[in-house]
Amino acid sequence: MKAKLALEKSRPGQMATSLPVLDVPERVLTDLIPEKYLRESAPRLPELSEPEVVRHYVDLSTKNHHVDKDLYPLGSCTMKYNPKINDWTASALGEMHPYQPEELSQGVLKIYHELEGQLCAITGMQAFTLQPAAGSQGELVGVLIMRKYHDMKGNDKDTILIPDAAHGTNPASVAMAGYKVVEVKSNSHGLVDLVDFESKINERVAGFMLTNPNTLGLFEENISKIASLIHGVDGLMYMDGANMNAMLGIARPADIGFDITHLNLHKTFSTPHGGGGPGAGPIGVTERLVAYLPRPRVEIEDGQYHLVHDFPHSIGRVHGFYGNFGILIRAWTYIRMLGPDGLHEISKVAITNANYLMLKLKDVFELAYDRACMHEFVLSARAQKEKGTSALQIAKRLLDFGFHSPTMYFPLIVKEALMIEPTESENKETLDRFVEVMKQIAEEVETHPELLANAPNTTPIGRIDETYANRNLNVKW
Ligand SMILES: *Cc1c(COP(=O)(O)O)cnc(C)c1O
Repeated sequence: MKAKLALEKSRPGQMATSLPVLDVPERVLTDLIPEKYLRESAPRLPELSEPEVVRHYVDLSTKNHHVDKDLYPLGSCTMKYNPKINDWTASALGEMHPYQPEELSQGVLKIYHELEGQLCAITGMQAFTLQPAAGSQGELVGVLIMRKYHDMKGNDKDTILIPDAAHGTNPASVAMAGYKVVEVKSNSHGLVDLVDFESKINERVAGFMLTNPNTLGLFEENISKIASLIHGVDGLMYMDGANMNAMLGIARPADIGFDITHLNLHKTFSTPHGGGGPGAGPIGVTERLVAYLPRPRVEIEDGQYHLVHDFPHSIGRVHGFYGNFGILIRAWTYIRMLGPDGLHEISKVAITNANYLMLKLKDVFELAYDRACMHEFVLSARAQKEKGTSALQIAKRLLDFGFHSPTMYFPLIVKEALMIEPTESENKETLDRFVEVMKQIAEEVETHPELLANAPNTTPIGRIDETYANRNLNVKW
């Protein structure tokens, strides 16, 4: 049923708050505010009682799909369950003001310092900055650090290599930092094609930006060889670490040849995200790059924490404050709650869940690369498309069964791609329910394609024009 607008539910006199009585003369306020800014009439705000307000928002929250309702297998986005204790710590500390003096912010600075140490332990990097407010901003910062490294050494470089399976933000960040992008092909196993890679390496190459595990959910087997070839031309290895959920406690980027990595805290370390919500994409670097990290940096001296600005070779500040506070506190809580063994367990279960689903589904849909996967795998609906049903229609039909759709049409090298990442949060019963629904949908492609043609059929709003929605975003109510 269509949600009623709050204004439609409004009834005069209903109230959800009790405001204190105005204790300054009204005239003082009107004297202070220039006349042109004064309202002529009262604002048209909904009048509702507290239970009505709560019901309104709960009702709205169930109209859309979210991970608190059911499985959200959106590949590469790691839509895991977000423990509610994270929100508790984030809101308990939420009264902090960013301009509060350092001596009154010791607790938060300590958390930042501790979080940086945790991320160093997880990745093997020497130091982290928490400033970047998204994975993509982290990428830009990482490439600017690369640039600084080459400038300081007087290296004449203009190119960064990126595999064809990469996330779209990778080439965008490289281009924003002023480098040329050269694409490297994937081979028939879904990994970097070494012949193509070697043919593109030369003295002009500033670095290689590699997602590992890659967006096909495969671990790059030739990573040592790749790293030594890049280091051989004094290039730097950048890891897009958005998919770290498969590597916790198993492999550390610094140990396998990477010099720089970003982590998506809102993915691996659990924060509700999606729809362009807030994120955090901290950047970690090995020892030789520490001097170029953004400033300020959090340091401890005589038991006191400080934001230190005195780093002459820093690339500068990349955030108004020290990063997205709420996301950082949530990630710190999550890591503290789990500890090293818990984090390791997460990756093991995430990998097991993905392989379980992959084995159950590979007879139903074509599997793009038929080998053991890490945190996710990619199916192709090519055969279904030939019969008239696209990956998009399959994805939309899943909504009728109360599941979110997988990531579609990405990576670009797989036709009619459906990229599925179950995460560690789901139990076997949920995965089995998903398998049954996928089987039923595959069956419908043969017998009732009309059910897919206009799906979703049961959601409050059916098929929308996504391009229009993107280009003409209007978030007013
Ligand atoms: C999500 C993702 C990014 C971008 O991260 P944002 O926080 O959305 O900017 C980059 N690379 C990969 C592989 C990703 O999955």
